[in-house]
Amino acid sequence: MEIKEYVAQRKIEIKQTLLSFSHVPSLAIIVVGDNPASESYVRGKMKDAEEVGIKAVTTHLPVDTTQSALLALIEQMNHDPSIDGILVQLPVPKQISEEAIHLAVLPEKDVDGFSPLSHFACCTPKGIIDYLQHENFAFRGKNAVVLGRSAIVGKPMAAMLLKEDCNVTTLHSKTSDEDKRFYLAHADLVVVAIGRLGMVDASYVFKPTAFVIDVGINRGEDGHLHGDCVPGLPVAYQSPVPGGVGLLTRLALLDNLLEAAK
Ligand code: NAP
Repeated sequence: MEIKEYVAQRKIEIKQTLLSFSHVPSLAIIVVGDNPASESYVRGKMKDAEEVGIKAVTTHLPVDTTQSALLALIEQMNHDPSIDGILVQLPVPKQISEEAIHLAVLPEKDVDGFSPLSHFACCTPKGIIDYLQHENFAFRGKNAVVLGRSAIVGKPMAAMLLKEDCNVTTLHSKTSDEDKRFYLAHADLVVVAIGRLGMVDASYVFKPTAFVIDVGINRGEDGHLHGDCVPGLPVAYQSPVPGGVGLLTRLALLDNLLEAAK
């Protein structure tokens, strides 16, 4: 099933599940500054919330907000029983430490799952695993290659694939091109999260049965969004960009929020 269709179906299920809830789950989103990409991501999250019947409120803070002012707001939200989940949209301006922010959000309200203490799985890798499970991808013993080792995608993705009994290899910017080609040629599942437009192209050899999940979101010179992979790789499945992992990430956020509200 295509990702768009899967997400639409899961949203209907979430809407139905919410009917049995004693209260409407509530998500607080904090945006610092006016990064256009952040504005667009937050609009998407607000739209999802409205669609399934979750209350979402966005607080916009000026770009020169101090870390202590942001921490004070998070602290206030941590203690507010009417808020089930708190999300600070990344990136935050330079004067604010992302790590300090993640650690400040109460683990039971950290629905992004960025902190190691969070009660929830990190949204992007969770969304990918849930989708692959829905597609009956047989993880056990499969060679999974993750390109990228960031704290919010690559590392948690590799950890979750290991939990699913894959043989996991993580590659990064210091991996030689020769080694990249070697590992990709043996991969049953490739997750690409590097942030380089079209870096993975058809010059790489893939197993024809391979699944390629493209996490990358890059603005091209044409003004459109593109993945880290060129479209049309000779594999069994390649996730589209846009309309792929971004939707899965937003779905995982809804799942985490429902858990938080329970
Ligand atoms: P990041 O923090 O910049 O990390 C990029 C990773 O890619 C780093 O580990 C880096 O290696 C590695 N890398 C860079 N160039 C490489 C190369 N040529 N070959 C192999 N590895 C390379 O990025 P991120 O936050 O993980 O995000 C990655 C991409 O996914 C971005 O385009 C971002 O916009 C997108 N994203 C999408 C979603 C979604 O919902 N669809 C969610 C999050 C992120 P080093 O560690 O050695 O520097």
